[in-house]
Amino acid sequence: MSERLAIAGGRPTIQAELPLYNAVGEDEIAAVEKVMRSGCLSGYYGSWGPQFLGGPVVQQFESAWARRFGVKHAVAVNSATSGLVAAMAAVGVSPGDEVIVPPYSMSATVMAPLAFGGVPVFVDIDADTFTLDLDQVRAAITPKTRTILAVNLFGQPARLHELRRLADERGIFLVEDNAQGPLAAEDGRSAGTIGHVGVFSLNYHKHIHTGEGGVCVTDDDELALKMQLVRNHAENAIEHVKLGSIANMVGHNFRMTEIAAAIGIAQLAKVDERVAARETLARRLSDGIRDLEGFTPPLVRGGCRHVYYAWATRVDEATLGVTREQISRALEAEGFPHGVGYVRPLYRLPVFQRRIAIGRDGFPFGLTTRRYEGPVCPVAERMYARELMLFETCTYEVSEDTAEKLVAALRKVHAGRAHIPAVSASEVR
Ligand SMILES: *Cc1c(COP(=O)(O)O)cnc(C)c1O
Repeated sequence: MSERLAIAGGRPTIQAELPLYNAVGEDEIAAVEKVMRSGCLSGYYGSWGPQFLGGPVVQQFESAWARRFGVKHAVAVNSATSGLVAAMAAVGVSPGDEVIVPPYSMSATVMAPLAFGGVPVFVDIDADTFTLDLDQVRAAITPKTRTILAVNLFGQPARLHELRRLADERGIFLVEDNAQGPLAAEDGRSAGTIGHVGVFSLNYHKHIHTGEGGVCVTDDDELALKMQLVRNHAENAIEHVKLGSIANMVGHNFRMTEIAAAIGIAQLAKVDERVAARETLARRLSDGIRDLEGFTPPLVRGGCRHVYYAWATRVDEATLGVTREQISRALEAEGFPHGVGYVRPLYRLPVFQRRIAIGRDGFPFGLTTRRYEGPVCPVAERMYARELMLFETCTYEVSEDTAEKLVAALRKVHAGRAHIPAVSASEVR
């Protein structure tokens, strides 16, 4: 006899709201105060000169970041979204060029190419890891492909070394959206540093943060320079540097403030501890349900370090005999905060469905015969509609006691699933 589910009138497993994740402490407060007292809150000038590359704290932060991740250049920016745009500029995306992207990511990934008239080409994900399917990437490369933009989703590296080899063979670039993967690694090498460019996020919801912020990394001098230029009104500085091509060197203001950089330095010092705590929690959740038929905890690919920006489990409705929606409702009643489906596959956004991005006339979609109709990526569709369920490990601070309760809630719902009331068709997403 299983315990009575909360959805059927039983006692919820988790009684209190989970406290929110908080990576910020006294170190950040002291660092910010020091910058405030200096009076210099940003060290940039938007023209060529000693201050073109930012103030002392920004540069110190960049050096620390480059050292930590073992790369030649770190370019701090005001968000990963800006960083992705800077990366697209640097790799030379031109109108009509194709950029291979996964449909399962934060929307900023697939919008970045559009900034330079690039055309996102959606390639499906692998069902076990939720990252780009390597064979389908290979098949999708055409003479128009400029770059692959891979996402290390939920903190697990995409097949980065193989993607890099493929990119090099075909004479194209590999850019990594590593917003969710600080310290993730494949074969001992940091995610974000295997592609030609890697982009990290420092927004509030990530493992470590500066409120808003991001960092682009690369070992390539010219790519680094281009990202530095685009970050800070390239047009004013372009005559002072040696560049093979000035394509895309149109300026933005993607600059990070001295305050954010000071917070970044303090946060970087904690990244090991913060990431390790997310891994410990995720392992506890995975181990807690590994024996339950119908739930598949996240698979960690051989040779990879997964840093669990989110813990994503798969739900097999046929094995369970109930729908994911029913499981989700029952978990909610138990007090287990979670999401289902992650994001709707991104080609379903109006920008692709209506083929209207820049301006009124459909640029850049007029430059391509690519269409975004129907279920372009069936695996992503399935994850979205029926299989994926996630716990956002960087949203809550989970004590050991609470972790045990999260596992207990999953086990209780699994055991009592036959008693979950059916969800009427009109209520289903
Ligand atoms: C958070 C996130 C972004 C955007 O990061 P910002 O710093 O908020 O601009 C991009 N891609 C992925 C995969 C993300 O998770």
